[in-house]
Amino acid sequence: MAVDPLIELRDVNKHFGELHVLQDINLTVGRGEVVVVIGPSGSGKSTLCRAINRLETIESGEIVLDGQPLPDEGKPLARLRADVGMVFQSFNLFAHKTVLQNVSLGQVKVRGRRKEDAEKRSRELLDRVGVADQADKYPAQLSGGQQQRVAIARALAMEPKAMLFDEPTSALDPEMINEVLEVMKQLAREGMTMIVVTHEMGFARSAANRVVFMADGRIVEDRTPDEFFTNPTSDRAKDFLSKIL
Ligand code: ADP
Ligand code: MG
Repeated sequence: MAVDPLIELRDVNKHFGELHVLQDINLTVGRGEVVVVIGPSGSGKSTLCRAINRLETIESGEIVLDGQPLPDEGKPLARLRADVGMVFQSFNLFAHKTVLQNVSLGQVKVRGRRKEDAEKRSRELLDRVGVADQADKYPAQLSGGQQQRVAIARALAMEPKAMLFDEPTSALDPEMINEVLEVMKQLAREGMTMIVVTHEMGFARSAANRVVFMADGRIVEDRTPDEFFTNPTSDRAKDFLSKIL
Protein backbone atom coordinates (compact mmCIF):
# COMPACT_ATOMS: atom_id res chain seq x y z
CA MET A 1 0.00 0.00 0.00
CA ALA A 2 2.57 2.58 1.12
CA VAL A 3 4.82 2.69 -1.94
CA ASP A 4 6.94 5.57 -0.68
CA PRO A 5 7.35 5.14 3.08
CA LEU A 6 8.01 8.30 5.10
CA ILE A 7 7.61 6.93 8.62
CA GLU A 8 8.37 3.32 9.45
CA LEU A 9 8.17 1.56 12.79
CA ARG A 10 9.65 -1.91 12.83
CA ASP A 11 9.08 -4.29 15.74
CA VAL A 12 9.00 -1.43 18.23
CA ASN A 13 8.74 -2.35 21.91
CA LYS A 14 8.57 -0.30 25.06
CA HIS A 15 7.72 -0.87 28.73
CA PHE A 16 6.78 1.45 31.53
CA GLY A 17 7.93 -0.77 34.38
CA GLU A 18 5.77 -3.89 34.15
CA LEU A 19 3.48 -2.37 31.54
CA HIS A 20 4.30 -3.43 27.97
CA VAL A 21 2.98 -0.22 26.46
CA LEU A 22 4.15 -0.78 22.86
CA GLN A 23 4.17 -4.39 21.73
CA ASP A 24 5.83 -5.35 18.44
CA ILE A 25 4.54 -2.28 16.66
CA ASN A 26 4.91 -2.37 12.88
CA LEU A 27 3.53 0.61 11.05
CA THR A 28 4.41 2.22 7.75
CA VAL A 29 3.05 5.61 6.79
CA GLY A 30 3.53 6.55 3.16
CA ARG A 31 4.34 10.03 1.93
CA GLY A 32 1.10 12.01 1.74
CA GLU A 33 -0.84 9.44 3.70
CA VAL A 34 -3.21 10.29 6.56
CA VAL A 35 -3.36 7.61 9.25
CA VAL A 36 -5.89 7.96 12.03
CA VAL A 37 -5.07 6.09 15.23
CA ILE A 38 -7.94 5.20 17.50
CA GLY A 39 -8.38 2.97 20.52
CA PRO A 40 -9.38 2.91 24.16
CA SER A 41 -7.72 5.18 26.69
CA GLY A 42 -4.41 3.73 27.85
CA SER A 43 -3.85 1.65 24.72
CA GLY A 44 -0.54 3.39 23.91
CA LYS A 45 -1.56 5.92 21.25
CA SER A 46 0.20 8.89 22.84
CA THR A 47 3.28 6.82 23.60
CA LEU A 48 3.40 5.79 19.96
CA CYS A 49 3.35 9.44 18.83
CA ARG A 50 5.90 10.44 21.43
CA ALA A 51 8.21 7.61 20.39
CA ILE A 52 8.13 8.81 16.79
CA ASN A 53 9.30 12.21 18.00
CA ARG A 54 11.78 10.68 20.46
CA LEU A 55 9.97 12.21 23.40
CA GLU A 56 10.00 8.60 24.61
CA THR A 57 12.84 6.16 24.09
CA ILE A 58 12.14 2.69 22.78
CA GLU A 59 13.74 -0.54 24.00
CA SER A 60 13.88 -2.48 20.79
CA GLY A 61 13.00 -2.13 17.17
CA GLU A 62 13.57 0.74 14.83
CA ILE A 63 11.89 3.97 13.81
CA VAL A 64 12.87 5.32 10.41
CA LEU A 65 11.99 8.76 9.10
CA ASP A 66 12.41 9.38 5.39
CA GLY A 67 14.97 6.59 5.14
CA GLN A 68 17.00 7.72 8.18
CA PRO A 69 16.95 5.88 11.51
CA LEU A 70 15.98 8.28 14.29
CA PRO A 71 18.92 9.75 16.19
CA ASP A 72 19.11 9.24 19.94
CA GLU A 73 20.27 12.61 21.17
CA GLY A 74 22.00 15.87 20.42
CA LYS A 75 21.58 18.30 17.57
CA PRO A 76 20.05 15.96 15.02
CA LEU A 77 17.25 15.42 17.53
CA ALA A 78 16.20 19.08 17.39
CA ARG A 79 16.12 18.82 13.62
CA LEU A 80 14.13 15.62 13.82
CA ARG A 81 11.55 17.33 16.02
CA ALA A 82 11.33 20.10 13.47
CA ASP A 83 10.91 17.54 10.69
CA VAL A 84 7.99 15.93 12.51
CA GLY A 85 5.63 18.60 13.76
CA MET A 86 3.59 17.66 16.78
CA VAL A 87 0.34 19.09 18.04
CA PHE A 88 -0.90 18.02 21.46
CA GLN A 89 -4.21 18.08 23.26
CA SER A 90 -2.98 20.95 25.43
CA PHE A 91 -1.93 23.78 23.20
CA ASN A 92 1.60 24.18 24.58
CA LEU A 93 2.12 27.72 23.33
CA PHE A 94 4.66 29.93 25.08
CA ALA A 95 2.45 32.02 27.39
CA HIS A 96 4.77 35.01 27.55
CA LYS A 97 5.33 35.30 23.81
CA THR A 98 2.92 36.78 21.30
CA VAL A 99 1.29 34.60 18.68
CA LEU A 100 3.71 35.93 16.08
CA GLN A 101 6.70 35.20 18.33
CA ASN A 102 5.38 31.71 19.05
CA VAL A 103 5.31 30.88 15.36
CA SER A 104 8.61 32.62 14.55
CA LEU A 105 10.91 31.45 17.35
CA GLY A 106 11.71 27.93 16.16
CA GLN A 107 12.29 29.11 12.63
CA VAL A 108 15.07 31.37 13.87
CA LYS A 109 16.52 28.99 16.48
CA VAL A 110 16.29 25.65 14.71
CA ARG A 111 16.04 26.51 11.03
CA GLY A 112 18.41 29.50 11.24
CA ARG A 113 16.14 31.94 9.42
CA ARG A 114 16.46 35.67 9.72
CA LYS A 115 13.89 37.19 12.05
CA GLU A 116 12.20 39.21 9.28
CA ASP A 117 11.91 36.17 7.03
CA ALA A 118 10.54 34.10 9.90
CA GLU A 119 7.93 36.72 10.73
CA LYS A 120 6.87 37.02 7.12
CA ARG A 121 6.38 33.29 6.90
CA SER A 122 4.59 33.27 10.28
CA ARG A 123 2.08 35.83 9.05
CA GLU A 124 1.39 33.76 5.94
CA LEU A 125 0.79 30.68 8.06
CA LEU A 126 -1.39 32.51 10.57
CA ASP A 127 -3.45 33.69 7.63
CA ARG A 128 -3.68 30.14 6.33
CA VAL A 129 -5.09 28.84 9.62
CA GLY A 130 -7.43 31.83 9.88
CA VAL A 131 -5.92 33.78 12.79
CA ALA A 132 -3.90 36.49 10.99
CA ASP A 133 -5.65 39.17 13.05
CA GLN A 134 -4.43 37.61 16.33
CA ALA A 135 -0.69 37.92 15.59
CA ASP A 136 0.12 40.46 18.29
CA LYS A 137 -1.96 38.93 21.07
CA TYR A 138 -0.82 36.56 23.79
CA PRO A 139 -2.09 32.96 23.88
CA ALA A 140 -4.35 33.56 26.90
CA GLN A 141 -6.25 36.19 24.90
CA LEU A 142 -7.25 33.59 22.29
CA SER A 143 -9.96 30.93 22.33
CA GLY A 144 -8.88 27.30 22.57
CA GLY A 145 -9.64 26.75 18.90
CA GLN A 146 -7.53 29.75 17.93
CA GLN A 147 -4.67 28.62 20.16
CA GLN A 148 -4.72 25.18 18.62
CA ARG A 149 -4.62 26.68 15.12
CA VAL A 150 -1.61 28.76 16.19
CA ALA A 151 0.03 25.56 17.45
CA ILE A 152 -0.54 24.02 14.03
CA ALA A 153 0.92 27.10 12.32
CA ARG A 154 3.93 26.93 14.62
CA ALA A 155 4.59 23.32 13.68
CA LEU A 156 4.11 24.07 9.97
CA ALA A 157 6.53 26.97 10.17
CA MET A 158 9.36 24.47 10.54
CA GLU A 159 8.40 22.93 7.21
CA PRO A 160 7.94 19.47 8.65
CA LYS A 161 7.94 16.34 6.54
CA ALA A 162 5.10 14.96 8.62
CA MET A 163 2.68 16.08 11.31
CA LEU A 164 1.58 14.17 14.41
CA PHE A 165 -1.64 15.17 16.10
CA ASP A 166 -2.42 13.71 19.51
CA GLU A 167 -6.09 14.34 20.29
CA PRO A 168 -5.85 17.93 19.06
CA THR A 169 -9.54 18.67 19.65
CA SER A 170 -10.15 16.78 22.91
CA ALA A 171 -9.64 19.83 25.13
CA LEU A 172 -11.78 22.13 22.99
CA ASP A 173 -15.31 23.34 23.53
CA PRO A 174 -17.57 21.62 20.99
CA GLU A 175 -18.12 24.71 18.86
CA MET A 176 -14.38 25.03 18.26
CA ILE A 177 -13.69 21.48 17.19
CA ASN A 178 -14.65 21.97 13.56
CA GLU A 179 -12.47 25.01 12.95
CA VAL A 180 -9.44 22.92 13.96
CA LEU A 181 -10.55 19.84 12.03
CA GLU A 182 -11.06 21.99 8.92
CA VAL A 183 -7.46 23.19 9.09
CA MET A 184 -6.33 19.58 9.42
CA LYS A 185 -8.48 18.47 6.49
CA GLN A 186 -7.02 21.24 4.37
CA LEU A 187 -3.51 20.06 5.28
CA ALA A 188 -4.46 16.52 4.34
CA ARG A 189 -5.78 17.71 0.97
CA GLU A 190 -2.50 19.54 0.37
CA GLY A 191 -0.68 16.24 0.73
CA MET A 192 0.79 16.51 4.24
CA THR A 193 1.74 13.17 5.76
CA MET A 194 -0.19 12.91 9.01
CA ILE A 195 -0.69 10.62 11.98
CA VAL A 196 -3.77 11.72 13.87
CA VAL A 197 -4.92 10.31 17.19
CA THR A 198 -8.54 11.34 17.53
CA HIS A 199 -11.99 10.33 18.66
CA GLU A 200 -13.52 12.34 15.82
CA MET A 201 -14.85 9.54 13.69
CA GLY A 202 -16.21 11.97 11.09
CA PHE A 203 -12.65 13.15 10.50
CA ALA A 204 -11.43 9.55 10.26
CA ARG A 205 -14.09 8.71 7.69
CA SER A 206 -13.55 11.77 5.53
CA ALA A 207 -9.80 12.43 5.77
CA ALA A 208 -8.02 9.18 6.62
CA ASN A 209 -6.46 6.80 4.15
CA ARG A 210 -6.15 4.23 6.92
CA VAL A 211 -7.46 3.65 10.40
CA VAL A 212 -5.14 1.99 12.89
CA PHE A 213 -6.92 0.56 15.91
CA MET A 214 -4.79 0.02 19.02
CA ALA A 215 -5.61 -1.92 22.16
CA ASP A 216 -3.31 -2.89 25.03
CA GLY A 217 -0.17 -1.70 23.30
CA ARG A 218 -0.80 -3.53 20.05
CA ILE A 219 -2.02 -2.60 16.61
CA VAL A 220 -5.10 -4.76 16.30
CA GLU A 221 -6.43 -3.49 12.97
CA ASP A 222 -4.92 -1.41 10.15
CA ARG A 223 -7.42 -0.91 7.33
CA THR A 224 -9.24 1.65 5.23
CA PRO A 225 -11.87 3.68 7.11
CA ASP A 226 -14.59 2.10 5.02
CA GLU A 227 -13.49 -1.43 5.89
CA PHE A 228 -12.90 -0.56 9.51
CA PHE A 229 -16.19 1.16 10.21
CA THR A 230 -18.43 -1.17 8.22
CA ASN A 231 -16.72 -4.42 9.04
CA PRO A 232 -14.32 -4.39 12.01
CA THR A 233 -12.91 -7.89 12.44
CA SER A 234 -11.59 -7.92 16.01
CA ASP A 235 -13.81 -8.15 19.08
CA ARG A 236 -11.85 -5.26 20.61
CA ALA A 237 -12.65 -2.95 17.72
CA LYS A 238 -16.30 -4.05 17.60
CA ASP A 239 -16.62 -3.40 21.30
CA PHE A 240 -14.91 0.00 21.01
CA LEU A 241 -17.07 1.10 18.09
CA SER A 242 -20.27 -0.01 19.80
CA LYS A 243 -19.42 2.36 22.65
CA ILE A 244 -18.57 5.43 20.63
CA LEU A 245 -20.81 5.30 17.55
P1 ADP B 1 -3.36 6.51 25.22
O1 ADP B 1 -2.77 7.72 24.59
O2 ADP B 1 -3.78 5.47 24.23
O3 ADP B 1 -4.48 6.83 26.17
P2 ADP B 1 -0.81 6.36 26.58
O4 ADP B 1 0.20 6.07 25.52
O5 ADP B 1 -0.91 7.73 27.10
O6 ADP B 1 -2.23 5.80 26.10
O7 ADP B 1 -0.53 5.43 27.83
C1 ADP B 1 -0.47 4.03 27.72
C2 ADP B 1 -0.24 3.44 29.09
O8 ADP B 1 1.05 3.82 29.54
C3 ADP B 1 -1.23 3.92 30.14
O9 ADP B 1 -1.54 2.84 30.98
C4 ADP B 1 -0.46 4.98 30.88
O10 ADP B 1 -0.89 5.08 32.22
C5 ADP B 1 0.96 4.48 30.79
N1 ADP B 1 1.94 5.55 30.80
C6 ADP B 1 2.01 6.57 29.93
N2 ADP B 1 3.07 7.37 30.18
C7 ADP B 1 3.69 6.83 31.26
C8 ADP B 1 4.86 7.18 32.01
N3 ADP B 1 5.60 8.24 31.68
N4 ADP B 1 5.20 6.38 33.05
C9 ADP B 1 4.47 5.30 33.36
N5 ADP B 1 3.36 4.89 32.69
C10 ADP B 1 2.98 5.66 31.66
MG1 MG C 1 -3.30 9.70 24.71
